[in-house]
Amino acid sequence: MVHPFQSSLSKSEQAFIEMHGLKYEWLFDAQGKGLPFYKVKMELLEKRVAFNTTPCKDYGHKLRSRHGHCLQCDEKRIAWVTRKRGFTYLAFSNSQKLVKVGFSEKIENREDSLNRTKYGGIADWKVFCHVKTNQAFKLESTVQKALRTTQVIREYEHGGFRQYANELFKSSPSDSLESLTKSMSELSISINKLVLDHNFSNLI
Ligand SMILES: [Zn+2]
Repeated sequence: MVHPFQSSLSKSEQAFIEMHGLKYEWLFDAQGKGLPFYKVKMELLEKRVAFNTTPCKDYGHKLRSRHGHCLQCDEKRIAWVTRKRGFTYLAFSNSQKLVKVGFSEKIENREDSLNRTKYGGIADWKVFCHVKTNQAFKLESTVQKALRTTQVIREYEHGGFRQYANELFKSSPSDSLESLTKSMSELSISINKLVLDHNFSNLI
């Protein structure tokens, strides 16, 4: 599946993204916006790479980290962009019957921010389980792969920006939880790390 943002990038930017294993869904369109703005938005939206930023001084590159560093001039920053430690979580929207598989550095306010930003145009997200691991990114990708045939892409607007939610799956809490636990065992992540919301049974 070609991500809608792919065509907004130059050939050399696409090559850079692919060479470093970055994902198109990590991109944030920073056209016309300054660092203070996109830094906050990217954190809320779980984005890692800003594109269409003001060109860097030395080479005119336009891909930057959430902190405004030029990624193409300073490849050390890539390690931060692809960092792995954090939380993999599943959220369910009862109104849309959709599951979101996500990765976040912090879990406490994740549900609030999904609903506040209307992730995917949806405001009844319930984060029903999470796993803290140093393979959180790998785990997220493994679960997404397992659910791939049910993937849906939603276009929505947030703060005047067009966003694409492509971590959404037409699945149920119990089916997606099963994919998560299977993926955990594939990656040898202890099942004891799974934290299930105490209201989980109300969702099924
Ligand atoms: Zn640069």
